[in-house]
Amino acid sequence: MSDNNINKIMRAIPGMDIMLDSEWGKSWIAAIGRVTVKNILNQELALLRRDILENKLDLNNINIEEELKSRSIKNFERAARKNLRRVINATGVVIHTNLGRSLIADEAVEAMRQAAVNYSNLEYDIESGSRGQRNSLVENLLCNITGAEAALVVNNNAGAVLLCLTALAKDFEVIVSRGELVEIGGSFRVPDIMALGGAILKEVGTTNRTHLFDYENAINNNSKIILKVHPSNFKIEGFTAMPERLELAELAHKNNLIFMEDAGSGLLVPGEDLNLIGEVSIKESLNQGVDLITFSGDKMLGGPQIGVIAGKREIINKLRKFPLLRALRVDKTTFAAFETTLRLYMRGELDSIPTLEMIRRDKNLLREQADNLAEKILERVNNKRVKVEVVKTSDAVGGGSYPERPLMGWGVAVSCDASVADVKLSAGSLLNLMRESKTPIICGAHDNALIIHVRTLRGHDVDLIINRLEEIFN
Ligand SMILES: *Cc1c(COP(=O)(O)O)cnc(C)c1O
Repeated sequence: MSDNNINKIMRAIPGMDIMLDSEWGKSWIAAIGRVTVKNILNQELALLRRDILENKLDLNNINIEEELKSRSIKNFERAARKNLRRVINATGVVIHTNLGRSLIADEAVEAMRQAAVNYSNLEYDIESGSRGQRNSLVENLLCNITGAEAALVVNNNAGAVLLCLTALAKDFEVIVSRGELVEIGGSFRVPDIMALGGAILKEVGTTNRTHLFDYENAINNNSKIILKVHPSNFKIEGFTAMPERLELAELAHKNNLIFMEDAGSGLLVPGEDLNLIGEVSIKESLNQGVDLITFSGDKMLGGPQIGVIAGKREIINKLRKFPLLRALRVDKTTFAAFETTLRLYMRGELDSIPTLEMIRRDKNLLREQADNLAEKILERVNNKRVKVEVVKTSDAVGGGSYPERPLMGWGVAVSCDASVADVKLSAGSLLNLMRESKTPIICGAHDNALIIHVRTLRGHDVDLIINRLEEIFN
């Protein structure tokens, strides 16, 4: 088709300004802004022109203006959707690294809101009427809970480790066991952080066994820190050896070195309180002679994203004066959420902290929740093709915490029975369909069935899940 003919057809479409000023245009401008509406219309006009040129449209049976509008609407809707969206976590992984890690307690959320909409004493000492320190907002609480002499917070744990290494060991050697040179998801690698901080990595031992004498032999005049790193997301089993903290502390102190630990997750209560066997709390680590410990706020601690540095006052005071601290500083809403979360610990209200409640939840309660969910699904999803079963699941703490053992959980397996199905839906296609829900639902899969783990479901998730299954199957 010639350009001339195309132009004639395209003239049936009103001009850009007329479209933008129409009721239709105005309503989309209100939703996504004039620039976006205009860009999408221009882009769709170009595609329409190309399709006409390539004879892809039946021009006798088409209203060209309506065609443009219907093509644009899909893009408008996509542009109107928020980029950061709520999703439903039906994976049973409590601290899901890709789904936002820890959820924040209701009371802490309210504190965030208050800090956001009001002025606050973020850096103001109300008693003296002069400048205050934002870090002092949480230091006492952290010291009370962990038994540390002093504490400091930064943006996240990676920042905490970086600050410690660069402020304390730049151009000095930091001794780390080869069994602890870990990479944690999201590209936190101990050797890289070490290099970034300007510290010299001194690897000792082997992957599975490191002895006290390995550390001892590595010590020289240029040594500064013995660093212990929580292996987080893996476990070496079998023929293994690692010195105890008490031994490493003694060795470090005898040689005037700092014994530092990157604890990763930040357990603030004894492991038994969460039924986690063998996990050492921050308090226990410090009791065993660790001078300086760092951990995340949004892993097992169950608060907002933050990095805590706790330990000896003398060392923390050095860090307080280090300029990098300013680049890693914590925002006021995070302080509000963190302080409130710590206060929940002080009051012993562990089950008000969603991460802790989900990890601790009783097996029988999980079973009951799975039974209820299965029953509701069967009530609403009225289709012989669908098989619904209550099953045991293997849940996880996640977030690189507690890799040793899965958490025993319960869930609902949904599959599409091939023997009665006209079209069999594989677990893979069911996973996709659940994800394409208006509120995306992220599930697990096992043995060709979709698995909905109940442990990580929140308030109204159940209704949304059932609505979606109904959409898929009915
Ligand atoms: C998660 C983790 C980090 C990184 O912490 P962020 O809070 O994500 O910065 C560092 N070290 C260990 C051992 C971890 O588990």
